[in-house]
Amino acid sequence: TRRSNQRGHVAKKKAQESYPLERVRNIGIVAHVDAGKTTTTEQINYYTGAMHRIGTVDDGNTVTDYMAQEQERGITIVSANVTVHWTPATGVQHRINLIDTPGHIDFTAEVERALRVLDGAVGVFCGVAGVQAQSSTVWRQAGTYGVPRIAYVNKLDRTGANFYDVLTDLKERLEMLPIPVQIPIGEEKDFNGIVDLITQRAWTWDDGDPPPPPVEGDVPEEVQDEVALYREQMIERIAELDDEVATAFLEERELTPELLRAGLRRITIACKGYPVLCGSSFKHKGVQPLLDAVCHYLPAPTDRPPIEGRAPKGKGKRRKDDDQDAWEPASRAPSLDEPFCALAFKTVSSKTNDLTYLRIYSGTADRSCQLLNPRTGKKERLGGGIYRLTANRKEPLDEASVGDMVGVVGLRYTRTGDTLCDAQSPILLETIGFPFPVVSRAVEPKSTKDKDDLRLALERLSKDDPTLTVSFPEDNDSGQTVISGMGELHLEVVTRRLQDDWKVEAKVGKPRVSYKQTVAGPGKGSFVYDREQGDKRVFAGIDLEVTPTPKAGKLSVVFACPADLVPADYQLAIEDALRAKASGVGDWGDPLIDVQIKVVGGKYEPELSNEAAFCAAASFALEKALEDAGLISLEPVMTLTVETPEDMLGNVQQDLQMRRAQILSMSPVKDRLRVVAAVPMAETFGYSSDIRSRTGGQADFTLEPREYEVVPEGKRPKLF
Ligand code: GDP
Ligand code: MG
Repeated sequence: TRRSNQRGHVAKKKAQESYPLERVRNIGIVAHVDAGKTTTTEQINYYTGAMHRIGTVDDGNTVTDYMAQEQERGITIVSANVTVHWTPATGVQHRINLIDTPGHIDFTAEVERALRVLDGAVGVFCGVAGVQAQSSTVWRQAGTYGVPRIAYVNKLDRTGANFYDVLTDLKERLEMLPIPVQIPIGEEKDFNGIVDLITQRAWTWDDGDPPPPPVEGDVPEEVQDEVALYREQMIERIAELDDEVATAFLEERELTPELLRAGLRRITIACKGYPVLCGSSFKHKGVQPLLDAVCHYLPAPTDRPPIEGRAPKGKGKRRKDDDQDAWEPASRAPSLDEPFCALAFKTVSSKTNDLTYLRIYSGTADRSCQLLNPRTGKKERLGGGIYRLTANRKEPLDEASVGDMVGVVGLRYTRTGDTLCDAQSPILLETIGFPFPVVSRAVEPKSTKDKDDLRLALERLSKDDPTLTVSFPEDNDSGQTVISGMGELHLEVVTRRLQDDWKVEAKVGKPRVSYKQTVAGPGKGSFVYDREQGDKRVFAGIDLEVTPTPKAGKLSVVFACPADLVPADYQLAIEDALRAKASGVGDWGDPLIDVQIKVVGGKYEPELSNEAAFCAAASFALEKALEDAGLISLEPVMTLTVETPEDMLGNVQQDLQMRRAQILSMSPVKDRLRVVAAVPMAETFGYSSDIRSRTGGQADFTLEPREYEVVPEGKRPKLF
């Protein structure tokens, strides 16, 4: 251990010499599809010198949309990281690790995991459409993760764009406090710059290729009234929320840019208010001040609270996740002096190697350090290499240190949501939650020679994408391979990746709803496994009970039997076997949820019983208990949010009635009505085109998985 201590010391020294943490920003760009996230990211790449030409989404040559499908479809499917350096007008260089996320609800997993590991976010809003449905979803999601944000109102060059309308929209639809720190100069096609309300200086951009740098100047005559008005409002809002600025204001001290920025920074980091900026990324206007604002207002890793987790009590191997007595609360401050801990937030499998993305919350580790994955109890090393990732390029690093996001190669036992930590100071961070899949399709290899490749490819794709699940013929009774995901587009993209990335030819069935099942009531089952295997007899018995539990989409397994009947050492393996069995049961072969499986007894013969025999007995006992209890089908129900002009409400409601919808609320937002309803997934196919024709394209909607509900009589379609 002396050697490894020394190594740890060397790694720590190196890391200290590297980039100062207070100047690092880990941020994401989030918004509705088409708001301009990728375009903005591309501009950022250009102005920071990370790249020497500007690609466009329309030409399919941006840095972050590098997948063939992304370029063809013109949408972001996987989030991409870029690392850039930027020196704001105040003169200190910052490093910005940026994640460009997809805006389509089908790829919500990418947004979810990004928000979990980011320190701050930029919400991009369309200057014409304002707060679109998916923008408000991701803005709120970011709120639940406590991620500080700034808002960027983009596309001000477009006809119909209006910065001030979007401000109202932000306030009303997002129920947040917008603090504009800029106002635009010129409107629509004449939009050509901004006034910085903090410095009271104007920045304008001329057109040109390559785009010339911005020109600083005095506030133009035409916007002087607005500048006075909005600056006063800005100061009031900052003073209301920040004591230091309030004191300076009362004492009639000069409100310097430094003082105002410091106040606004504290407000932003505390998520009490949100700076709002404006621009037109496509016309190369407003991006440099946006980068300045990222440095000024969004938190460094050191500004974030310590990460909370749980530490195993005492020594011991793998332990049950829900065993209260096995864990105690623990946390790690964002410091190099704390023991190493990191969260794996993404994996990318390929034919040659597996890449795991880590967010490091404390300490530092080099390639030789032995790390622990507390979920599996396995040791891992970063021996395959540590990299800084920029879109699809990799730059090797000596170590992974606090505050950074890196990619590592060759981890064997670590999947998305897992913690990696110093083996001497274990901590388990909360894993990442993902929504459940709601749509399924059968997949079949085009020829038998593709069968194994298809399996391998699907296993890898579903490992990388937690919202994609696969059930193979032996796991269900339909005899088909079935993939399940977030929506039709999601599964279409997966199918294409089979072809593009894995060279597997497959036929796919029509999209259908992913059903699940639960028990109709309590049930009991027992099984004694007693077989000759070779010249040896193996023997084990399990008695168990199943009971329905409240709706949560979960399955729980508990052991309530004496250790001389079922040895404690076998419990985790038995639990795994029960969960595997429960993933596809009964005539439908659907997964079981909202059930507690309780192992209440067993039969153990020290000479004859082994783990495998107990697992087999448990699996058969579960089958019997489910037969005894009876199974009922559950269907996914979605939360549908529609925003419609008031005069179209009748049409929207009429349509909802035909879809077995239950209206949950109706409320005015700006000049429209927001209708929230619970609708079975099965009734939502084709909603997008139906709503368009019923409202002349004037309504906007989102669909999110809500819960599983019992399928009404006669509504469960036949198997395939
Ligand atoms: P994302 O889906 O949020 O990543 O949006 P994209 O960056 O892919 O942009 C969607 C579309 O809007 C593309 O056609 C862009 O060229 C266009 N776009 C992006 N920003 C602007 C802008 O500032 N002004 C105008 N007029 N179009 C823009
Ligand atoms: Mg995009």
